[in-house]
Amino acid sequence: MKKECMIEAKTIRPTTYKGKHLKCDSCGIRYSKRDYSILFKAKKIIYFELMGQILCHDCFYQALDIIMQQENLDVLRVNLTDGRSKKILRLDKK
Ligand SMILES: [Zn+2]
Repeated sequence: MKKECMIEAKTIRPTTYKGKHLKCDSCGIRYSKRDYSILFKAKKIIYFELMGQILCHDCFYQALDIIMQQENLDVLRVNLTDGRSKKILRLDKK
């Protein structure tokens, strides 16, 4: 039997984000809200909120990998919302 888990995460939309800068809590990469807005629309950069942390795209996927390894999961489903719509990301064990 496969071990599965579901977690919640959020895409940070520049239009609803309150701060002036976005900074990844893991690697520290940061953008002004203005730059983020441009890059987000161009689908170049997306920040995520996961378990109370703000993470850049790379750190988000790294964090998901770590969760999968720590929990020894075969499948991790991420319930991803952007405040308007929802989608489910599915990650399978490598
Ligand atoms: Zn990062």
